[in-house]
Amino acid sequence: MANRTFTIIKPDSVRKGNFGKIISRLESEGFRILGLKKVSLSTKQAQGFYAVHSERPFYPDLVKYMTSGPVYVAALEKEGAVPALRKLMGATDPSKADAGTIRKEFGESIEQNAIHGSDSDENAAIEIGFFFAESELL
Ligand code: ATP
Ligand code: MG
Repeated sequence: MANRTFTIIKPDSVRKGNFGKIISRLESEGFRILGLKKVSLSTKQAQGFYAVHSERPFYPDLVKYMTSGPVYVAALEKEGAVPALRKLMGATDPSKADAGTIRKEFGESIEQNAIHGSDSDENAAIEIGFFFAESELL
């Protein structure tokens, strides 16, 4: 069954010109792009998106990083999309990510780690809803 997930190509990737390479990886792994937008997250949006981490010591820096430049947000579809994307991204810390993963290839640090992927079907639906109307998903 086709499932949905949500991704953010993070500011470090956009700054370094890695957007096209990362999107190409996603397509070649069989993710269909249902919707894609370039956006600059406001502080409020970044705080809300990562609200689950609001008590963590890295939260203020995380919000600064995510608002440090434009990002691409995308709704993706594939069978088992959530675990498939998490596997393709690799571990949060790029230095611990498996060879061949997006974070291993493009991530800079545990903070500037190139890409976000939803961690559950439920969060995927919520995160897609932050940025897209159902009519924009094709
Ligand atoms: P994401 O939610 O962005 O897909 P993740 O699920 O692998 O990443 P989380 O634990 O949800 O990791 O952390 C959210 C983001 O916060 C990370 O992607 C990273 O940018 C930042 N982060 C996480 N842990 C740390 C840390 N120890 N120090 C600095 N930044 C961190
Ligand atoms: Mg997460």
